Amino acid sequence: MTQLTPTAQDYRRLSLWHEQYPGSWAPRPALPGDTAVDVAIVGAGFTGLWTALHLIRQDPTLRIAVLEREVAGFGASGRNGGWCSALFPTSWRRMRRCASEQHVQAMQTALERSVVEVGSDATAEGIDCGFTQGGMVSLARGPAQLTRARAHVADARAHGFGPDTLDLLDAEQAGKRVAASRVLGAVTTRHCAALDPARLVRGLAEAVERRGVGLYEQTPVLRIAPGQVDTPHGTVRADIVLTATEGYTAELPGHRRDLAPVYSLMLATEPLPDTLWQQIGLADRATFTDERHLTIYGQRTPDGRLAFGGRGAPYHFGSRISPAYDRDHRVHQHLRDTLVELFPVLRDVTITHRWGGNLGVPRDWYPSVGLDRTTGIAWAGGYVGDGVATSHLAGRTLTDLILEHTTPRTSLPWVRRRTKRWEPEPLRWLGVNAVTALMTHADRSEQRTGRPSMAAAAFWRSLGH
Ligand SMILES: Cc1cc2nc3c(=O)[nH]c(=O)nc-3n(C[C@H](O)[C@H](O)[C@H](O)COP(=O)(O)OP(=O)(O)OC[C@H]3O[C@@H](n4cnc5c(N)ncnc54)[C@H](O)[C@@H]3O)c2cc1C
Repeated sequence: MTQLTPTAQDYRRLSLWHEQYPGSWAPRPALPGDTAVDVAIVGAGFTGLWTALHLIRQDPTLRIAVLEREVAGFGASGRNGGWCSALFPTSWRRMRRCASEQHVQAMQTALERSVVEVGSDATAEGIDCGFTQGGMVSLARGPAQLTRARAHVADARAHGFGPDTLDLLDAEQAGKRVAASRVLGAVTTRHCAALDPARLVRGLAEAVERRGVGLYEQTPVLRIAPGQVDTPHGTVRADIVLTATEGYTAELPGHRRDLAPVYSLMLATEPLPDTLWQQIGLADRATFTDERHLTIYGQRTPDGRLAFGGRGAPYHFGSRISPAYDRDHRVHQHLRDTLVELFPVLRDVTITHRWGGNLGVPRDWYPSVGLDRTTGIAWAGGYVGDGVATSHLAGRTLTDLILEHTTPRTSLPWVRRRTKRWEPEPLRWLGVNAVTALMTHADRSEQRTGRPSMAAAAFWRSLGH
């Protein structure tokens, strides 16, 4: 748990997006005392706030309280890479094990629709978050990555998805979109937008408040039980309680092994001149990555910077979370080196911002959303770093479940799924960090030999990829 009460200035220093947010970070008042509502939501990130917004839009008479330990947008929702994508960490093949081909296709269609709806809902609520749907380009930089890129597209076709969902680019086409080094080709989709996450999440907080939702900041939830949420400021009684704490869930009593908090770190360059952008590409603000195993991600920001991030930070024993883990010199230096290796023209640019945050990883990398009617406890999360658009779908699905509406969303193959819990320590620590080490080693060996890593392939197969 966080030890000291941060100030508005502390919140502003959390990331580039926090610093650039034009509004105030001064916390809203805490819960004033005991209260009763229809729905209590724990956590004011995208999951909690999209759910509150969809609920209150559908039923303006609902009494909803959102309880946030820090401020809305404190967590991953305010600090992420701003990819609003239809990516889902679970492969279609893995989903197919427990769902029909129609349901797998419905899931992909729902995710693709969510990308567009994030943009249209933001516009409808008057939120200017720089949403630009320029698609996503995942570069193949080396023979092993090209083999994987081709396999992804073949897999898409096998599940009935056409070039609209995933397409292959040759080296020349890819290079025109993203002029990175060593490009042999790419996979691309148009179902991705770049956005400023802090502006979106803060805009959502204002939108729900305008509609009468109670948003209480500086209100840590100490315990969640059926029909009841305990905080130091009072108890909230509610028919439905939603746990929307994602990467922080491990800190809630009884939930230590639900989702592993894994850190993703980011940096941003100074605003780049047009002459550099002409050499880099990204004219349409496509988000970009490459086909390496250890995730990297980047976007051209609305003010012309490159915001770039990746995994590789250590998992901390006992699922510990600390602001100290948001910045790791070794990982940030590695990210900078990776960025310069991608775009050598960036060699001399200044890195102005470095930050990070934690996201929630379920044991089987399969996100889930659901409501247990017997306890009234609802949940959503475990997005493994793909939560920006997925949390919108979660919010709409939770709204359906809470209002007891049966819709195509309520039978999607992530609804009511119960994921196996993580192993106790030290196995969890060994397992998560071993996977990071494996991915790092596999990427290095693929770059050296050009051959796909068998060990990494075996890991992905174990997850059903
Ligand atoms: C650096 C980084 C980059 C990422 N990049 C992308 C990306 O480009 N695209 C993408 O799709 N996803 C990305 N993700 C993942 C994405 O940001 C998350 O999946 C998503 O924001 C999760 O939203 P959430 O509302 O579920 O959780 P959060 O935004 O983490 O919100 C949880 C909230 O709960 C609050 N809370 C926790 N415990 C308590 C408590 N006990 N009482 C009260 N409140 C509590 C926290 O303060 C927090 O505000 C990234 C994540 C990180 C960290």
